[in-house]
Amino acid sequence: MPMPLHRLPSALQTLRPLTSFSRRAILDFQGAQLRRLVRHAYENVPLYRRLFDSAGLHPRHIQGVQDLHRIPIVSRALLQETPVSDRLARGVAQSSLIPWPTSGSSGRPLLILRTRAEDQLLMAVRLRQLFSLGLRLTDRRAAVALPDPPIANFRWDDPLRGRIGLLIRRKVSCLDSPESVVSQLRALNPDVIEGYPGSLARAAILLTDDDRRLIRPRFIVSGAETLSPALRRDIQQGFQAPVFNYYGADEFNLIAAECPSSGRLHLMETSILAEVLLDGQPVQPMQSGQLVATALHSFAMPIIRYNLGDRVTLGEELCPCGAPLRTLVHVQGRELDRFTLPDGKQIHPFALVDPLLQAAPWICQFQVVQHRRDHVVVSVTSNHGNPIPPQALAQIQTKLAAILGPAVTVQVEHRPELPQQASGKFRPYRCLAE
Ligand SMILES: [Zn+2]
Repeated sequence: MPMPLHRLPSALQTLRPLTSFSRRAILDFQGAQLRRLVRHAYENVPLYRRLFDSAGLHPRHIQGVQDLHRIPIVSRALLQETPVSDRLARGVAQSSLIPWPTSGSSGRPLLILRTRAEDQLLMAVRLRQLFSLGLRLTDRRAAVALPDPPIANFRWDDPLRGRIGLLIRRKVSCLDSPESVVSQLRALNPDVIEGYPGSLARAAILLTDDDRRLIRPRFIVSGAETLSPALRRDIQQGFQAPVFNYYGADEFNLIAAECPSSGRLHLMETSILAEVLLDGQPVQPMQSGQLVATALHSFAMPIIRYNLGDRVTLGEELCPCGAPLRTLVHVQGRELDRFTLPDGKQIHPFALVDPLLQAAPWICQFQVVQHRRDHVVVSVTSNHGNPIPPQALAQIQTKLAAILGPAVTVQVEHRPELPQQASGKFRPYRCLAE
């Protein structure tokens, strides 16, 4: 579905470098997009019509960002319980949309859909940030991450770009051994490396001077997991290149990107409207709370004041580098434990997620805990605690046992609900083994 003409000017604005805006211009842009989005959602999307009506909210009440607090916050659970048809705008055919079945880091599957144009705009925002770090059109990029999932209606490798040799990006699977990641990177000779920090660090500590003659990235972008200072140091020392942290989620694509001069994360303020709230109230700079965000360009399936479930620390009102942007200092949580198997092999917990959800699309929430190297417990919940037949649980057991190998016993439990940690953050993957 192409971009409707009336949305083109705001899409083009979004691709301008963020530093070219004044603070006032960003707030005006956000206000204008928010007004459009709220009116559109009220008129076309059953979920938001119900929510706004029950809160006594009419689109005329929303004049700008200052009125944001009047809009009800939606939780992941609410979106998950709402049928897709009630989350989609009237007249939009689901089959024409690109599906993003988010599941990875939250342990709670949720289907997000975008038109191709909406999706490409968000991909372009990501590229705009890479260009601001020095990416060139002719650079070869290597991404050490999960293999791309097959997505209907969507090709990861744009054949045209591939033919003319621009913006080439190759995947190296993070499920491969660190030795294999290193040898694939040697063969690719990338100018820029992207990937999960855990996988990058494990490859980085293996690198020899000979490897470094062939693998010479100008910079590295880390995403999807928490980049701890230790991981950053290992990656930086191993690859001898600066590392920049990116924070994103399938619901929004890129949310914030590290500022090279201050180290804060610049919020992508022309594509999302982000708030950091504690008990529903905005936090002060340098305090932490939950990230609640609005996707400013998602009209097919609007996402308005959505609590992503990530705990973050808000930075200064404007970035110390002088950019007119609000910032985050940290994104807590989302550090994923890797599972070491009895034979010493390590696997990334994401390797279990797709098979788990394929075997059991009814899963509402899951948690995978490795109690010992040879014992993994998978706890799952169903919508409203609906009963699940034993053979459905056995199916999950078989599927995961095949991945983990005969030395590991897999136990599957259906539970009414899953416990949160003391910090309030739910961890879908935990390793308790030595
Ligand atoms: Zn900055």
